[in-house]
Amino acid sequence: MKINVYLLIGVFVSLSFVYLKDNQPKKGYDSLNLDQSVLPCDNFYQFSVGGWMKNNPIPNTESRWGAFNILQKENEKKLKTILDKLLNDDAKYSKGSDEQLLKAFYQSALDTQTTNQLGLKPILNEWKKIDVLRNIKDIGVLLANQKQRGFGNLFGFYVSIDAKNSQRNIVYMGQGGLSLPDVDYYTKEDEKSKNIRKEYVNHIQNMFALTKETKSIEGYGNLILNIETDLAKISMTRTERRDPVKTYNLYQYNQFVKDFDYIDWGIFFKTVSQTSINEMVISQPQFFEKLGGLLKKYTLNDWKTYMKWHVLSSKAGILSKDFQNESFRFNSTVLKGTTQMKPISERSVNMVNAYLGETLGKAFVKQHFSEASKKEVSQMVENLRAVFKERIQNLDWMNDSTKAKAIAKLDAFTYKIGYTEKWKDYSKAKIEYNKLYDNIISISEISFGMMMSKLGKPIDKTEWGMTPQTVNAYYNSSRNEIVFPAGILQAPFYSPDADDALNYGGIGAVIGHEFSHGFDDKGSKYDKDGNLKNWWSSEDRVKFEQKTKKIVEQFNRFEVLDSVFINGSMTQGENIADFAGLTLSYYALKKQYQQSPPNGIELDGFTWQQRFFLGWSLVWAQNISEKELRNRIITDPHSPGMYRVLGPLSNMPEFWEAFSCDNETKMKAKPNELVNIW
Ligand SMILES: [Zn+2]
Repeated sequence: MKINVYLLIGVFVSLSFVYLKDNQPKKGYDSLNLDQSVLPCDNFYQFSVGGWMKNNPIPNTESRWGAFNILQKENEKKLKTILDKLLNDDAKYSKGSDEQLLKAFYQSALDTQTTNQLGLKPILNEWKKIDVLRNIKDIGVLLANQKQRGFGNLFGFYVSIDAKNSQRNIVYMGQGGLSLPDVDYYTKEDEKSKNIRKEYVNHIQNMFALTKETKSIEGYGNLILNIETDLAKISMTRTERRDPVKTYNLYQYNQFVKDFDYIDWGIFFKTVSQTSINEMVISQPQFFEKLGGLLKKYTLNDWKTYMKWHVLSSKAGILSKDFQNESFRFNSTVLKGTTQMKPISERSVNMVNAYLGETLGKAFVKQHFSEASKKEVSQMVENLRAVFKERIQNLDWMNDSTKAKAIAKLDAFTYKIGYTEKWKDYSKAKIEYNKLYDNIISISEISFGMMMSKLGKPIDKTEWGMTPQTVNAYYNSSRNEIVFPAGILQAPFYSPDADDALNYGGIGAVIGHEFSHGFDDKGSKYDKDGNLKNWWSSEDRVKFEQKTKKIVEQFNRFEVLDSVFINGSMTQGENIADFAGLTLSYYALKKQYQQSPPNGIELDGFTWQQRFFLGWSLVWAQNISEKELRNRIITDPHSPGMYRVLGPLSNMPEFWEAFSCDNETKMKAKPNELVNIW
């Protein structure tokens, strides 16, 4: 899930205070966010955040701007303060200490003088390793070396929990090798897509021209587009990849090596892993079946050009200014509509955040996280779990045996709030002043080593998949756990000063959203122990799929731009989660108010029921460039902000009641289109 807020946007002035249950003044909904020229039952998004959208245009350095992004920016400012303080102090920190790592890395990122002087130089060593390749079969050692140093290439490779045996880690391998954001970018035949491919070819030519290669670079753009188009054609689409059963194919090592002998895998695996590998999960066997043919279709020199391109393009952001500018022009302006590069200070903070995120996060939580918030949010998690349990028990479409298993799974959910209890150790990274490129490679090597060292060891229950400063949350199906980093436990998702209805419409619905991922089209295929194993009766599964199909159809009907529709299949997991999350949180709030009533008062002219839905809408308030919207329709499993509000609310009787919407209004789904699941 992705998110955001309102207390931080600085547009609200007129807040009225009302004393609620604990006699503290609580903040309600700011009327400046509203567009009162629209009726809530006609278009609730426009009504609730139309004012916000008008007051918050997209800055030139962004492609979309929402309450979510504003909170993220606020976090970045806090990180910058931490880093600036380190940079400017006179203390000598011991090598490998958190302070030394952060200070030297941040300095190296800010050091544009060295970066500009070096030009292309940092990657020439990587190119040399490509140049010496004698034949394609020997590519194994090169690919292994690139993986270790953090480069993407030909295929995906990582270690993670085995989806069918959650007690062990295993190697996963799958499709890869593309530069454009998704498979669809290579295969769609509409004019806009064709034009992006034309621009991509120009971009490749421009980048190679900047390298001042002595060889002729004629035709490089078309060659790379052709190779990547061929790779895209043997790949699964994003929607196809949602199927955890089809993407789980267990191979014995010997079988894999024999079936795909066009690469010397022996040397590849020996280089990447100190532990011997007996089995692996292949996500897309058809990709590996056809990759051999593609390796033969193009010459060795063609493949060298392709591999050089991937090195160049992936590291362009840390080469000299000319490379950075051309990379920004294509990747940010052409693809997303952003017109201006962020200042170097901001990019440097983002870089430290990307490479040493946990080390930086340690400092962040010391200053910006309260244990009281953790306690209150933990209580909300339990309140939502209790409501979900009741609702499963009362479902009229599920039989008792499936219900018992669903509840067992719900009971088994664990959760993490705030930050990790065991920080990742980067003390062995070699981080020095003025050496940005080497610093990045060193951290990449350490990260790769950490990942590989998981093989053959028990699952580390303390591990986090996000840094604490991240404004996001997640569900992990193999661990059956939901996780809420400190970064999201801030307004407008959650604030100790906001009234309960806004907090339940914000973080409460997010908690429900993550719970429900355990029961969406994908998550529902994993059992309580995190194993990909069916626990449904076949009739219940059919009924569930009839319901989710209706959600797919509902979102397929949303036309976001002329002839551009939401992909209902690709976004269904998130759409189900939004709908379920809102329902669960609404009833958890109602229950809380039954125990401790809010004095029956209205705040800022809205009832608590209305403020609950306003709270949700505010989290998704956003403006987005047309290009970014097109990009996200293809790549983002979440629906655009507006539809995350319009979609679920149009299915909710609780919403119609709160705003007295009658049958003729647009916010009420037609009876034959109406969905209810949880
Ligand atoms: Zn989600």
